[in-house]
Amino acid sequence: MRALTLTAFGGPENLQHLELPAPTITTPDQVRIRVMAAAINRLDLFVLGGLPGPKPTLPLVVGSDGAGIVESVGAAVTRVAPGDRVLINPGISCGRCDACRAGEQPICRSFHVLGEHSPGTIAEFVVVPEANVAKAPANMPWSQAAAFSLATLTAWRMLATRARLAAGETVLIWGVGGGVSLAAIQIAKLHGARVIATSSSDLKLETAKRLGADVTLNHGSVDVAKEVRSLTGIGADVVVDSVGEKTWANSLKALRPMGRLVTCGATTGPHVSIDIRKLFWFQWNILGSTMGNHKEFQTIATLAARGLLWPIVDSVFPLDQGRGAFDRLAQGNQLGKLVIEVSS
Ligand SMILES: [Zn+2]
Repeated sequence: MRALTLTAFGGPENLQHLELPAPTITTPDQVRIRVMAAAINRLDLFVLGGLPGPKPTLPLVVGSDGAGIVESVGAAVTRVAPGDRVLINPGISCGRCDACRAGEQPICRSFHVLGEHSPGTIAEFVVVPEANVAKAPANMPWSQAAAFSLATLTAWRMLATRARLAAGETVLIWGVGGGVSLAAIQIAKLHGARVIATSSSDLKLETAKRLGADVTLNHGSVDVAKEVRSLTGIGADVVVDSVGEKTWANSLKALRPMGRLVTCGATTGPHVSIDIRKLFWFQWNILGSTMGNHKEFQTIATLAARGLLWPIVDSVFPLDQGRGAFDRLAQGNQLGKLVIEVSS
């Protein structure tokens, strides 16, 4: 099969197209999928440089997100059949440990994402457990189906599960433009919340408005924390911050007493500080979140089937120009997801 692979750690220059043996079903719970389209996330860029911890065997098929057509299934598979169009949840867990049995797959000790330590989605075939697929909406184009899972699932867990966002609350979402923040706007609106979205790009803020953001702030020209306090009188109920070092201090300034700050990433750096006196005095909740569990994945797939939470796609690259998607993601100017068309 044709695949886009990482042949040495470094950057996108080390991505090569190779002809590799197609993966086969090895356990009865697995599904083999003909990948129609794949999509990449910031994690895929980190993989190129080599993540901390054990290194994957190279060449590695890259790509975390994807969607395609079920080609064959293991003997124990009951929910999908050959020919079904499916969304792929790229978070793979062992399925046997206490965390997995409790339905909290993201804290499974062997939790990993496709294309990180196991073969990814930018290849003609991928094999995943049945629990990691959901039927794709019949009318959803492959590009959006491929771009759906990781960002939507991450944003869903952040807002619905971790922050328990409620109707009428105000949520501040920093740096709209990437898949998670754009999904977060849609999820917050679905919960009946008021959304304040920021970006340094007016074009991205227009898209945020189109997705339902109530207030948009250009963080290049306004003091976001001050604006949020003046708009709310007290501060935001929930702040979604995956930017990290650059926004952390202002996220706290924008947060109301007893508010929730939820993070899933640290694009501008991971080291921040906090004045513990403010933490206890204002009784803040600082919440981490990563990916989502199988139940949350089925929930967002059900919402997608109702035409909700469909992702914004920035651009689609043919497989033989797949490296271009990584270059564009590294530049950081994208508005929505970067997709690679694998099969046609
Ligand atoms: Zn497990």
